[in-house]
Amino acid sequence: MAKDLYEVLGVASTASQAEIKKAYKKLARKFHPDVNPGDAEAEARFKEIGAAYAVLENEDKRKLYDEFGDDAEKFGYDPEKAKAYRAYASGGGGGFSGDFSSGFPGGGFSGGGAGFDFGDILSDLFGGRGGGGGFAPDHAPRRGADVDASMTVDFLDAVRGSKQTIELDKPTACSACQGSGHKGAPGPCAGCGGTGRANVARGPVQVQATCRACGGSGRSPGPACGTCGGNGQVRRRTKLTVDVPVGVESGQKIRLAGQGAPGRNGGPSGHLFITIHVRPHALFERKKQDLEYALPITVGEAMRGAQLDVPTLDGRVKLKIPAGAQSGQRLRLRGKGVPAARGGEAGDLYVRLSVVAPKAEDEEAKALADRIDALYEGDVRAELERKL
Ligand SMILES: [Zn+2]
Ligand SMILES: [Zn+2]
Repeated sequence: MAKDLYEVLGVASTASQAEIKKAYKKLARKFHPDVNPGDAEAEARFKEIGAAYAVLENEDKRKLYDEFGDDAEKFGYDPEKAKAYRAYASGGGGGFSGDFSSGFPGGGFSGGGAGFDFGDILSDLFGGRGGGGGFAPDHAPRRGADVDASMTVDFLDAVRGSKQTIELDKPTACSACQGSGHKGAPGPCAGCGGTGRANVARGPVQVQATCRACGGSGRSPGPACGTCGGNGQVRRRTKLTVDVPVGVESGQKIRLAGQGAPGRNGGPSGHLFITIHVRPHALFERKKQDLEYALPITVGEAMRGAQLDVPTLDGRVKLKIPAGAQSGQRLRLRGKGVPAARGGEAGDLYVRLSVVAPKAEDEEAKALADRIDALYEGDVRAELERKL
């Protein structure tokens, strides 16, 4: 049986918009599924309140309802019939464009009517909580939250890829209540003895009102679990193995599917996102896929050229230093950078030459240095002078 919309909100048919809004907020807060977990009747009331408000908060719809109210009651809240009513109402010269009966697609709260945003008013009521799935009734399957974590990896483990273990405090289903948040079996509400109605004192008069404890359902899901405080989840130290992919860089996130917080009511678990931090290496520097390091060489090696054994990620390789090599010159070892990953190409390794001069302490060494200086053609700083 459909109720009078004003009655649903507990306001007079002459109530102002402010009064209607205030009454709606009060009732929505009271019957909100988050406040009445697992309570189907509170949920039904909540929807009923929302549907009534969707009509009455809109001046046009309210006018139509005032005029065709009896018909609206006859149609009840069946979406198909409401559509017919809408057509009828708009045919009657009204502008009944909203869909007050089907604005609640199973918790998605899309709010059919123009200018009416359930999200706004509910975030107003509940401080903006309930991200993602909107306000799903508490017995509906809900996906668990995603969990963020971070992990520091050694440079070579990141470049080559590796298996790492991470230990973190992770939300886990409470074993004391199997994640339900309640202990023991559901039973009748202690607040009303299962009737859904309770005596409330209004001044000197005792009146029967909907039980606050159970929202009128008369049922209780059982007392809150003491282990998890009714949350259904506890944080537990958990060890996980993480496959660090080849070539991962600082700031990248690795997703461990289904390793986030457990879902509720049979919903899937969230994901675990691990942000990687890479420790710098004492020798290798990384630039995207390429690696680089500074290789000290002697003046003689620079002048004559040389064949040297130099380190790479895969061990030592021969590197030819050309005659007349200079400090700062970069020699490329193709494919010796960050290994190829997922169909990509391997990077290169750049060896940056750094000429180390010996000390010239005795006269013989100083004479040798003079002889070397005599080999320069012109001023080595000529280029510098031109650039000034
Ligand atoms: Zn528990
Ligand atoms: Zn009760």
